Amino acid sequence: AVQRDPEIMAARLQLPVVGEEQKIMEAIHNNDIVVICGATGSGKTTQVPQFLFEAGYGSPDSPTPGLIGVTQPRRVAAVSMAKRVGQELGDKGNTVAYQIRFEGTVDANTAIKFMTDGVLLREVAQDVALRKYSAIIVDEAHERSVNTDILIGMLSRVIKLRAEMAKEDSSIKPLKLVIMSATLRIDDMTHNPVLFSTPPPVIEVEGRQHPVTVHFARKTRHVYVEEAFRKISRGHKKLPPGGFLVFLTGQNEIIQLSKRLKAAFGGSTAATGPKVRISATEAPVEVEDIDFGEMDDRNITDMDDGLYDGDEDDEEGDEGEEEEFKIEEEGGTGPLKMHILPLYSLLPTKDQMKVFEPPPEGSRQVILATNVAETSLTIPGIRYVFDAGRSKERRFDRLSGVQSFEIGWISKASANQRSGRAGRTGPGHCYRLYSSAVYERDFPQFADPELLRMPIEGVVLQLKAMNLQKVVNFPFPTPPDRQALAKAERLLAYLQAISETGSVTKIGTTMSIFPLSPRFARILLVGHLHDCLPYTIALVAGLSAPDVFIPENQAIPPLAIKEADEEGRQPFRTNEDVIAETQQANARRAFNAVQKNFCFLDDKSDAIKLLQVVGEFAHEPTEAWCEAHFVRYKVLKEIKQLRRQLADLLRTNIPGFANLNPNQDKLEPPSPKQVQALKQMVAAGFIDQVAIRADKSPIPPPMYRKPRRAIDVPYLPLVPLDGVEDPAEGMVYIHPSSPLAHLSVDECPDYVVYSFLQKAGNVLADEERKPKTRMHTLTDVT
Ligand code: ADP
Ligand code: MG
Repeated sequence: AVQRDPEIMAARLQLPVVGEEQKIMEAIHNNDIVVICGATGSGKTTQVPQFLFEAGYGSPDSPTPGLIGVTQPRRVAAVSMAKRVGQELGDKGNTVAYQIRFEGTVDANTAIKFMTDGVLLREVAQDVALRKYSAIIVDEAHERSVNTDILIGMLSRVIKLRAEMAKEDSSIKPLKLVIMSATLRIDDMTHNPVLFSTPPPVIEVEGRQHPVTVHFARKTRHVYVEEAFRKISRGHKKLPPGGFLVFLTGQNEIIQLSKRLKAAFGGSTAATGPKVRISATEAPVEVEDIDFGEMDDRNITDMDDGLYDGDEDDEEGDEGEEEEFKIEEEGGTGPLKMHILPLYSLLPTKDQMKVFEPPPEGSRQVILATNVAETSLTIPGIRYVFDAGRSKERRFDRLSGVQSFEIGWISKASANQRSGRAGRTGPGHCYRLYSSAVYERDFPQFADPELLRMPIEGVVLQLKAMNLQKVVNFPFPTPPDRQALAKAERLLAYLQAISETGSVTKIGTTMSIFPLSPRFARILLVGHLHDCLPYTIALVAGLSAPDVFIPENQAIPPLAIKEADEEGRQPFRTNEDVIAETQQANARRAFNAVQKNFCFLDDKSDAIKLLQVVGEFAHEPTEAWCEAHFVRYKVLKEIKQLRRQLADLLRTNIPGFANLNPNQDKLEPPSPKQVQALKQMVAAGFIDQVAIRADKSPIPPPMYRKPRRAIDVPYLPLVPLDGVEDPAEGMVYIHPSSPLAHLSVDECPDYVVYSFLQKAGNVLADEERKPKTRMHTLTDVT
């Protein structure tokens, strides 16, 4: 029996889900698939796995010995929820464990395994019956991440299979599937006959735990980081003790704001500044969440939230409206120092976990987060949420393939979810940096499922490799459109992964074994030519992690510009200013020298530059080396792990590679001939993404100005971009971060291969100048 701490026992009794334990377990007992809907904070994630555990699931001597698997769309949730459930169960070992890519605590004693949905997807590919498990809980299903959607589709088949197996062999038990969601907007799933022939029972759990009062801003400002700074500053001075959780859109903003807050309020910061390290393994983009937290309308005010100074430069005269902000009858404000912590998905796990620790004595915890903190997490002590109302999202033009990162309004569901973070361990307040009018008018109700916003060739290949010839027949919770599927199939045919009839080829089956996108898998499989294989492995591993290089503006942050004071006097340049300027000039010189050195094997290829970095890191795998070379330690460490994994997979799956040594990290530099061969292999994987210099094309388009810089030289994709009418729109340019950008115009190669096209997002771009479509180039082709 489970021995819980008395305090935990008392807390559990307060959770709405605990009151429904019997109903939930009965439903699971009588049905293979059950859906649980409960508002955020009702206790789903922490309690339902424990119900199953106490009913004997996951216990070796019970009739249901298999593991209880719990999936989460995000790593930080998988790790932190495993910790919490372990604590609640008084677990001293690894009864409750987690597994995320390259990192895990699962051992022979594990009964409850938290993991990212990507981890379970790989396991389904290895064993379609998931024999290791007795129950699977798919959590946060309403988030509609690609992996969750595919997983639910697959699990619907696994359940059938296990039921059939159980009929024939009594030693095999059926698999239980519990889908958990914070909203009822999962009709796509419950009433989708392709997915579930009979709709599964839906158990609704009522009620959230603590009230959150929502305060809208009277006005919506565009410079929201500035606005966040002002509100947080005032809030910090006026509000009673309690942690702040601030929602912004990305890492740059978080670093920028944390510096300003630190300068203003002293205290400590952790892991911010140019030393920030980033990992890029699992989710290069943070998933937008579409949860729906319940909000009591009576709690919503649209009045002055009192966080403004009287001397605010509001055009709308606010005389008389200044209403002093009254929070509870609680004496005094909080501590004067701030303890500032960043939280975003690409931050190393151990740094992410710092937000769960109590702040140092005498300081207020201020967490600056992206939307990773939007769902699942309970950060103890957070009482106030500040929400900028925006998120950065990768948009992907289905036709042209051009992608962009755009900052846009979140959905209403996300906004409510964000405010909900203030009510996890007590009543709270949410300050929205936008007005209720903007919220009503501009915020969509929910965000689209991620599957409809991403390239899907990887998904299509995985499905085909599982012998699903007609991917349209796969039980997608929301099917992608036919055009997108056709495009993915075209690419897979190019790569010889599928045949003309659309069935997977031998090459395709082999490609699907590797945790790589189809193009990189294809490159890997031709990689043994000219004794290149160890280099190809290193290169493909590097290319799969897009954020190795720290961009110049992050590596060398611009100096704060001192403004003239109120009387118009120019600022005084102190000695410190002069020193800072000199240091910055030196840093820039070092930055440029490092970039140039990385290109010594070849000055026209991003891919070879990357290979050089991966190669050098193997000889000097330290944080100090990475810092001195403006590259990300965490990413390179994961590349190193991926190299081993790839070599291992090649060795065990492909006859002929049995002698490959997976631990061969250190390589001699490749010969010029090998460099040529590697460039050709890269080109082969991107055969449909070659661009020709516009002035060298058979029918050169009219050119009005002779370009003076490499980044202004127009190129034309050989396969024209679909859906682009205007010829000027069809031209693409070298990205400034590429080594090619340092060439003279005459040196710019006739042909280049690119990995993807990108356009500057809407919000940050200068309205006057149309942003150019830029190629993330891989290499020249000769
Ligand atoms: P749901 O999944 O329904 O949103 P959870 O099971 O994650 O709810 O959490 C339910 C409640 O348990 C939280 O609102 C909070 O009160 C408590 N809780 C969860 N995790 C922690 C934690 N790490 N520290 C303190 N309380 C926690
Ligand atoms: Mg949850």
